[in-house]
Amino acid sequence: MAYLRTKIIVTLGPSSAIPEIVEQMIKIGVAGFRINFAHGDRETWSRYAELVREHESRAGRPLSLIGDLTGPSIRIGKLDSPLFLKAGEIAYIVLSDSGSADKKEIPLPNPRVFFNVDVGDVIMLDDGKVRLSVIEKSSDKLTVRALTDAVIKSGKALVVRDKEIDLPTLTQRDLDALKLAAELDFDYVGVSYVRKPEDVDTVREVLASLGSPDTGIIAKIETRSAVANLEKIIERADIVLVARGDLGMIFGLEKVPWLQTKIVSESRKRGKPVIVATQLLESMVERPVPTRAEINDVFTAVREGVDALMLTGETSIGKYPLEAVEWLKRAILYAESVIEPEKINVEGDSTTRFARGVVSLAEDTGSILAVYTMTGGLPRAVASCRPRVPVYVGSRCVKTLRKLSLIWGLEPLHVDADSYAEGVEKLVDLLYDKGYIGIGDLVLETFRTSPTEQHLILRKYYGKRKQT
Ligand code: PGA
Ligand code: MN
Repeated sequence: MAYLRTKIIVTLGPSSAIPEIVEQMIKIGVAGFRINFAHGDRETWSRYAELVREHESRAGRPLSLIGDLTGPSIRIGKLDSPLFLKAGEIAYIVLSDSGSADKKEIPLPNPRVFFNVDVGDVIMLDDGKVRLSVIEKSSDKLTVRALTDAVIKSGKALVVRDKEIDLPTLTQRDLDALKLAAELDFDYVGVSYVRKPEDVDTVREVLASLGSPDTGIIAKIETRSAVANLEKIIERADIVLVARGDLGMIFGLEKVPWLQTKIVSESRKRGKPVIVATQLLESMVERPVPTRAEINDVFTAVREGVDALMLTGETSIGKYPLEAVEWLKRAILYAESVIEPEKINVEGDSTTRFARGVVSLAEDTGSILAVYTMTGGLPRAVASCRPRVPVYVGSRCVKTLRKLSLIWGLEPLHVDADSYAEGVEKLVDLLYDKGYIGIGDLVLETFRTSPTEQHLILRKYYGKRKQT
């Protein structure tokens, strides 16, 4: 099978929000684009979204557009220039919007942090690249010592190792971003720093009130509370994301592989799609070739059966955005050619049990799977069984197809039809036209007309039925 079953998501930024690059990325096989609302403004976000939609329609392949909320994060203010620190050097975190690198001031506009932090705490920035130990504190100034050589830049998110600082779930910036996501018909919204299951509900309610109840919700697992409330958060979300950058800062790097394994398996057990993100090919921000360890990381994720892998800095600010996507594809395709994802017994409803039977029949008979859907429920259930055969999904609903583009093993295709039976027939003919199937191939056609009525037809393809 030459197509990617594990999907690729890229983050857009100055390095990649360029027409030729987006076009190339789609050609290589990218399934979704993420716009990080933590950077830029409405104008930038709209321009990025337009770029994706334009090239999506040119390519004729449904793609997901993901908007990632800033969420309750603590970010440092504006530095007049980058602040370089040597290991052991002293600096000051000051309660202010802006600071001077010469005076070794790191501005921080959030008074709560000064209140919550204690001497001995470790403050981390920039996915853990900067670590500062607190040696003295007052209500508006923390004296810190750099634990390693570090470069500190404006606007970076800050975390305190082993501590969670209480902040509201949605800021005004998040609400403005949600409005834009609803207006521009984003397919998913990423909820950053989820702490409790209700955080997912809150975002869903806001989207519904903005007239976008169908926007999918990606719960980013990156706080201690999210790990503690993992099962309930997984149940409420549409997709789960292992946000390894923040997890590494909060829990310590050594715990990230185990946290990833746990979050992936808990999600898969519940039939929930799961994305692994951050520092997959980090060295490619600066260099055109990844490290062996990075390729190993991709291999592990493919074996764990994650639905998608998400590039962040590699494509947003990196020097080699296209090379990063090419390498990720190469690593995934090779991994998929030699290993199958671990099979997991998915707990689920009658649709899941039906899907399990369908997948096992398709694998036993060596059939290609063709699913026609309106809501995406059945194909999602089929994908959760990680079938070893290709799965093509037809729908007349573009939104459904776009959302399915991120799900493991599914190839979404636009097929306009008035009934499920007509839809699945047209889908199979389209597969023939595209050369995905040939005369004599076995096709297992399936659809679900209601939660209690599911259809299954095993057919040897003899060409278009209407013409014969
Ligand atoms: P971010 O989330 O890139 O929005 O910080 C991903 C992560 O923390 O890994
Ligand atoms: Mn994060």
